[in-house]
Amino acid sequence: MADVLDDAEVALILAITAHPDDIDFGAAGTIARWTDAGIEVIYCVVTDGDAGGLDEDVPRAEVPALRRAEQVAAAKCVGVHDVRFLGHPDGRVEATLDLRRDLARVIRQVRPDRVVCPSPERNYARMPASHPDHRAVGSAALDAVYPDARNPFAFPELRDREALAPWTVREVWIAGSPSPTHFVDVTATFGRKIAALRAHESQTRHMDDLEELLRGWLSRAAALGGLPEGRLAEAFQVLQTA
Ligand SMILES: [Zn+2]
Repeated sequence: MADVLDDAEVALILAITAHPDDIDFGAAGTIARWTDAGIEVIYCVVTDGDAGGLDEDVPRAEVPALRRAEQVAAAKCVGVHDVRFLGHPDGRVEATLDLRRDLARVIRQVRPDRVVCPSPERNYARMPASHPDHRAVGSAALDAVYPDARNPFAFPELRDREALAPWTVREVWIAGSPSPTHFVDVTATFGRKIAALRAHESQTRHMDDLEELLRGWLSRAAALGGLPEGRLAEAFQVLQTA
């Protein structure tokens, strides 16, 4: 198992994702455990998922508000009540300096001990985890953690115009990594993870096999992490970043 901060030392966690629903597929069971333990968790979603949704009858202009509302409802299922959206265009996210500054701003505002983000690496075993937006957000989030958020001379406007002091994140958990190092037993919170995924109605309404599909993924993660038979796990690559 990886070197991981004791949750007792963690007061606040910022989860950065590309799309509404990413965090629920990748980490909602773990997040429910954290909020149950009294840790505050805040979500930062880079896009409004405006290129998503399966229903041709929903006018495209209504999709961003719909998907934001779904993510806010899903967050409540796992004890998260602060969800921030950056409004970058879905399907066209790049790891630009603008995105790095936007993420460094949120990190300095929130001052998290731990950040959760997607992987900048392509996972050849699981193509959907490696959506180009996920890889771009993973890359920009890691750059925002180091060096941007902690370097007082990076994006000086954050300090000079917005009075945002530098902040050093101690630890990063990468979801969807091709090389996971840490496995969280989420058997007890699996039901809330499924409820959170169901809250993304526009994405999951047609998935009759959702629970079975997730059970399969999480069982395989548990086996990979050496957990006992019958357990369910979410997998992360944990980096010490202080
Ligand atoms: Zn996604």
